[in-house]
Amino acid sequence: MHHFTYQDGCLHCEGVNLEQIADEVGTPCYVYSSATLVRHARVIASAFEGQDCLIAYSVKSNGNLGVLSTLAQEGCGADVVSGGELQRAMRAGIPADRIVFSGVGKTAEEMRLALQAGIHQFNVESAAELRRLSEVATMLGTDAPVAIRVNPDVAAGGHPNISTGKKGDKFGVPWSDAEDLYAEAATLPGIKVVGVDVHIGSQIGDLVPMRAAFEKVVGLTKRLRDAGHEISRIDLGGGLGIPYKEDDAPAPPSDYAAMIADVTQDLGVQVILEPGRVITGNAGVMLSTVLYEKAAPETDFLIIDAGMNDLMRPALYDAHHDILPIKQAGAGAERKTYDVVGPICESTDKFAKARELTALRPGQRIAFMSAGAYGAVLSSTYNARPLVPEVLVNGSSFDVVRRRPEFEEMIALEKVPDWLTQKA
Ligand SMILES: *Cc1c(COP(=O)(O)O)cnc(C)c1O
Repeated sequence: MHHFTYQDGCLHCEGVNLEQIADEVGTPCYVYSSATLVRHARVIASAFEGQDCLIAYSVKSNGNLGVLSTLAQEGCGADVVSGGELQRAMRAGIPADRIVFSGVGKTAEEMRLALQAGIHQFNVESAAELRRLSEVATMLGTDAPVAIRVNPDVAAGGHPNISTGKKGDKFGVPWSDAEDLYAEAATLPGIKVVGVDVHIGSQIGDLVPMRAAFEKVVGLTKRLRDAGHEISRIDLGGGLGIPYKEDDAPAPPSDYAAMIADVTQDLGVQVILEPGRVITGNAGVMLSTVLYEKAAPETDFLIIDAGMNDLMRPALYDAHHDILPIKQAGAGAERKTYDVVGPICESTDKFAKARELTALRPGQRIAFMSAGAYGAVLSSTYNARPLVPEVLVNGSSFDVVRRRPEFEEMIALEKVPDWLTQKA
């Protein structure tokens, strides 16, 4: 469910006309709905009510400070994958003791930052990382709370590029090595083993592979306890899918929560969850303006002012985004089939192939739906385009929560080398 609806013939976000935002902010830009973010956070929180649970929102899906602050107010914790995300989460008011730190390549500097902040847990992904964390924590005279991320060898996820829990994926410790690594962890100074962690992929609509992975983790937890490890938490990652098309029907959060309650019952652990997309995905859209129509021998091109640098999901994962005109087409409006493309000099700068839409003219605005997750966070300045702005709507008001940089700001970090500017 989301708060993007047609009102009086124009697509609105909550009470704000998207045409007005496009006029004032310019396109391309992202627009997020506070009410949708809050709704999603509450749906998940209430699905897990009664379970000892930490909802650690996955910052990588959308790390905008306005979005993070909205979720911080709802009591969300955070799952971060870099020192930068850790600082963003804390800046938005998420307490360090509700933050978990995932990722295969944490640097010693990032570990130090997180230890000094006093985060809830490190999700460690290799033996080498565990040893490095032991050194850093020992140097600081502290203990790092650790869960080891295990790879349960279960395939899941909406696309091969977003599956993470299969043998051969770079994520997690191979299943057969996990118990040996826990044994080593117990001997290392500065390491306090607290849990087990798993995250098998993203855009998973089917609970069957999730359940299979979680059951393996529960079995491992019991074996680890038998071996004398104090396992008081299990982190089950994120990955719950969302509808991108009208007839997509991913498992609802209530079923997901019931499955987890069933699998973890009697274990007496804190369950940590790292939802990202399911909170932010349908809470955002990207607005764009049609630049040109270009006739082609096969499908005509619709050339728009947004590029793959602004919304990379179609180029990166073949992802589908519904495209809606901001001004609603009348009942008998002409339909046309387009390849919808951006201005970037890459053939993968294509948002949709042979997509039937209402006929669009230059100057008309469109919205890419379900663009709140893995949208703006993946944007870049490729082709020297300014970073795409972000807008947060709250009821009938909106604020630009990341503005479009000026050209001078874009080049401010660069310089011409001294040898080219110094006169002989
Ligand atoms: C990306 C990621 C998530 C969030 O995944 P979603 O599909 O957005 O819910 C959670 N945990 C880890 C470790 C991740 O890498």
